[in-house]
Parts: sequence; C-alpha cells; structure tokens
Amino acid sequence: MIVAIDGPAGSGKGTVTKRIAKELGFINLDTGATYRCVALQALRSKLSIKDEEEIIKLANNIEITIDSNGNEDIIFLNGEDVSKDIRTKEVTNIVSQVSSIIPVREIMVDVQRNLAKGRNVIVEGRDITTVVFPNADLKIYLDASEEIRAKRRYSENLEKGINTTYEEVLENVKMRDYNDMHKKFGALKKAKDAIVIDSTNLKIDEVVDKIKDEIKKKI
Ligand code: C5P
Repeated sequence: MIVAIDGPAGSGKGTVTKRIAKELGFINLDTGATYRCVALQALRSKLSIKDEEEIIKLANNIEITIDSNGNEDIIFLNGEDVSKDIRTKEVTNIVSQVSSIIPVREIMVDVQRNLAKGRNVIVEGRDITTVVFPNADLKIYLDASEEIRAKRRYSENLEKGINTTYEEVLENVKMRDYNDMHKKFGALKKAKDAIVIDSTNLKIDEVVDKIKDEIKKKI
C-alpha cells in the first residue's frame, strides 16, 4: 500500500508521517532527505548552485539509503550517516534550487521509487501525489498558514540546536514555497484526488487520527 502526502515546508508532513508509520508498521519515506543529500554533497564539493552539469553528475553518482533505529530515520549518503548534516541552514538554503534542476529530479524520483519498492510505505514530499506515485492508494495534501509553519520549524530548530531566528525561518519558508510551487517539473500542487487537510488549528494527534481514519477506510 502506498500512502502519499504532499505539502509545503512545516505543514507537519514529517512528524505525522513518522508517527503513522510507527503506529501502523509502514515504512516511512522522507523524499526531501534525498534532495538534501544532493545539496549537501554539492556544498561539500564546493559547487556553485549554477554548476548544474556538475550537480547532475554528482546526483548520478551518490548512493542514498534510509534505515531506522526504531525511533527515527537514519539517512546514509555513500554509507555515511548524514541525518544531522542534511538539516543545517546551509543545506536548507540551497535545497529548493538544487531540487529545481530537472535531471536531478528525474534521478531522485527513481531513487525514491526504488526505496519504496515492494513495501507498505507512507511517503512525504512535494510531488509524491502527482509525479512519484500518481496511483497511490491514498493521497493527502497537508497545508497550514505560513506563520504557523515557520513557528513549527523554528521550534524544531531550537530543539535540534540549529541556530536561527524566527524571521530567518519565515523568510526561508516563503522562499522555498515560491521555488517549490513554481518548478517546471514536480512543482508542489494539490492533486485532483487528494484529501486536503489544513493543520493550522489542529494538534498533531488530530491530524494523525484523520489520516489513520482515511487509511483504515482503504484497508
Ligand atoms: O521536506 P523538506 O523540507 O526536507 O524538503 C527539502 C526540499 O526538497 C524542499 O524545499 C523541496 O525543494 C525539495 N523537495 C522536492 N520534492 C520532494 C521533496 C522535497 O522538490 N518530493
């Protein structure tokens, strides 16, 4: 079974997806992590965001695997645990530009489909309901206001020890929303058959329950 969830940064996709996967015994696939791996490798290789050819080569030559320690996902880039490194400010600032390079998207969509193959998965991202798994069993579009999304990301950053201000996070959320919604290929949009959930005034538990109810209807 494939449950696909799309939505903008900070809409709660990551948190609810992890919870539902744990509760229902599904594999959780965070597709943003795959683009973050490419962005991290580009930074480590000192590439400019304009070096598209080099970034495409690099995307073709990296190996991404995802494992879980029971509580959280561990993301491996060429065998190295980069779970923390892919969440830094530097990566977050360039990832939506890296993910706008069309061949990079094509390569990552293949990687994502392979990671999900033959498993019960709950997959979250921006183009999961429209491009990666257009025939998913259940499609959800999770939304929330810009301010609440920035607040959530800011609190997450504080917890993780990432040093940012609320204003910086809000600016980044706005910039990524714009980039993610205006991509030529794989733009964030609501699939016609997606169930839309606005989490602005909902608690995590309420969103989790709503989605679990929808999954149960499908089972
Ligand atoms: O979900 P997360 O915020 O980690 O995603 C990081 C970036 O990766 C997004 O801003 C977006 O540019 C890109 N992304 C994407 N398609 C996906 C998932 C993420 O373009 N399916």
